[in-house]
Amino acid sequence: MRFRTSLLCFCLLLAVLLVLPISASSQISPDPQIMAEVNQIKAVENHTHVPKVVGPGEKDDDFDALPRDPLEPTEAPLMARPENPKFLEAWQKLYGYTYSDPAHFHELVAMKQQVQKEQEDNYPAWVIDKLGIEYMLANRVAMGRGLNPPRFIWVPFDDALMVPLNNHAMADTPDRKFFYQREEMLLKRYLSELNVSTMPAILDNYVAQVTTPTLERQKKAGAVRSSLSRRTCDPWISPNRRSKKHGRSSHAMSKEACRARRST
Ligand SMILES: [Zn+2]
Repeated sequence: MRFRTSLLCFCLLLAVLLVLPISASSQISPDPQIMAEVNQIKAVENHTHVPKVVGPGEKDDDFDALPRDPLEPTEAPLMARPENPKFLEAWQKLYGYTYSDPAHFHELVAMKQQVQKEQEDNYPAWVIDKLGIEYMLANRVAMGRGLNPPRFIWVPFDDALMVPLNNHAMADTPDRKFFYQREEMLLKRYLSELNVSTMPAILDNYVAQVTTPTLERQKKAGAVRSSLSRRTCDPWISPNRRSKKHGRSSHAMSKEACRARRST
């Protein structure tokens, strides 16, 4: 009886050991039918700084309200480094790059330029087709060539509307100095788009003549929501980093808005 029990236990153990590797390996490779179905599902990309199509010598400065380019150079995060093998895979899938190393980068640039030339204004849509994206939300100051609805949906920047006063006390680091200058530039642009030549003297007039008409203009142009940058919201979120002498001001109104929209 004891022998039979031991034999049964041994058989059970053997069965478990035999089955385990099979189930483990079957988890590694997904069911091809399910994968085929999953790959048919189109994505919604909900936060991008997608560039517009530009002509020769033209530059796209509207891809972000607060671009990081002029800041002090810092080391790129791991995923953004050129040696990341995902870049190679992307080049192969997008442009037909046939090499297994990035040494032929100049050929890749030529291939990309060829596609851009062939596709012209359809190039951004061609890229998102390749990526399996149906709709792309574009966090941009303004939309531009090739970024057309319904595939590309505008998310304008509205943090500039929250800083109409003197921002000198907030610009306490070189980075913030640059960011607040950009916000002031953007607010001036919004004012000129409304043909408002001087800043209204009181808040009610500012809201009526600048804030509301800007939001209405953006909505009319297809904007689905506003974007607030954490780069200028951060001082409100981290009060310790804020200049003490600035005290509680009209910026305090913006604090809650920033906290609510910190994810953008
Ligand atoms: Zn962003």
